Amino acid sequence: MKTFRIGGVHPAENKLSAAEPIKVAELPKVAVFPMGQHIGAPAVPCVQKGDKVKVGTRIANPMEKALSTCIYSSVSGTVQKIDTIIDASGYAKPAVFITVEGDEWEESIDRSDKLVTLKDKPELTPEDIINKVKEAGIVGMGGACFPTHVKLMPPPQFKPEWVIINAVECEPYLTADHRLMLEKADEVLVGVDLLMMAAKVKKGYIGIEENKPDAIKLLSEKCKAQYPNIEVVPLKTKYPQGGEKQLIDAVVRRQVPAPPALPVSVGAIIQNVGTAYAVYEAVMKNKPLFERVVTVTGKQLSKPSNFLTRMGTPMSQLIEACGGLPDGDCKVIGGGPMMGKALLNTEVPICKGSSGVLIMSGKEARRGEPQPCIRCAKCVSACPMGLEPYLLATASGKKMWDKVEGEDITSCIECGSCQFTCPSNRPLLDLIRMGKQTVMGNIRARQMAAKK
Ligand code: SF4
Ligand code: SF4
Repeated sequence: MKTFRIGGVHPAENKLSAAEPIKVAELPKVAVFPMGQHIGAPAVPCVQKGDKVKVGTRIANPMEKALSTCIYSSVSGTVQKIDTIIDASGYAKPAVFITVEGDEWEESIDRSDKLVTLKDKPELTPEDIINKVKEAGIVGMGGACFPTHVKLMPPPQFKPEWVIINAVECEPYLTADHRLMLEKADEVLVGVDLLMMAAKVKKGYIGIEENKPDAIKLLSEKCKAQYPNIEVVPLKTKYPQGGEKQLIDAVVRRQVPAPPALPVSVGAIIQNVGTAYAVYEAVMKNKPLFERVVTVTGKQLSKPSNFLTRMGTPMSQLIEACGGLPDGDCKVIGGGPMMGKALLNTEVPICKGSSGVLIMSGKEARRGEPQPCIRCAKCVSACPMGLEPYLLATASGKKMWDKVEGEDITSCIECGSCQFTCPSNRPLLDLIRMGKQTVMGNIRARQMAAKK
């Protein structure tokens, strides 16, 4: 069974909602759209207080001359205000608040269930697809939130060879991608076909962990029958199999060099399976990105579920639909337990990158008391990037920024495998994240100074 070659860990899978079909979440009373829900510069509101909008009306444009993308309303109603909200990052961000009235959609969106394939639209060109993806505000939906149209237009010195679909979903607890593959397999495959055409490649791969045998079987059969250029690659269940570099290593055995090198430098364009579905909807159904599948889960929840959720819906509403928060202490995490972040409150809205909401009891979430490092090197063996986590964490704690930069801290993918495996409960990831942010800030400052 294929997998990546360096490091990795095996956390308990806890896929509690894997057998739960996707349900449509109720509309919120007020939908809130933070302007910074993608990598790059925040979007700029193009509506004002009092404006009427429909489902699919554009409410924010990309910032000019910057890496940015647009945002669409997921609801119909009236713009209540433009204010700030604390989003999943924990910081206050400018946001558009819309009071929901009815559910009126823009007429240009095709709401039928009819599958549309490339055979139905033979006139489509790669440029058309990229423009549609750009206009629809699509970003990487695995959580990275990098604008998809930019990934599809690599610098001219790089020649993409493959589109690799990340359908690994290696984070414990999360099942949104798994359900999407089972329930929207045909649409996903058309989306992969569109991505391959846009990237001008002849071969596509879909990497799926072996803990999803039903999805592997279904997509393999469909590919054999209808898409001979797309191959499903079953992968060993090992965290972080869904890291871009780990996926490329597992599927095509190429190693992406250290940052700032991109996956396309070794010929690969990686797209999440949810992104492939969003591309299908944008290009074939004229539907901008304003809803997504979200897993809401946790051992204390009475009904762990997968919801098709309009962006802007508060997480509290989804938690209520799963039976509400348990009694006693609990921690609410945006994303999975390995890479997710604890939320300051449950009013955080669902955004483009919200793959899941995880509720952990105080007992489950409690970390052991940190003890001195016993130099066991388990963190080194677990690191999928071949780094020395104990060293990076210690030096970051001592603010030795030149040292950690020299030790390649910017290559850290923040997967948390080191912290997960440490028998001394050292807060390795917290320290390394802090060090990495500082070093990246220092690098940017040097680059700016060099330009002046
Ligand atoms: S968080 Fe960074 S240092 Fe720790 S295992 Fe992952 S890549 Fe390595
Ligand atoms: S795993 Fe923990 S105890 Fe072992 S070397 Fe790394 S930091 Fe030290």
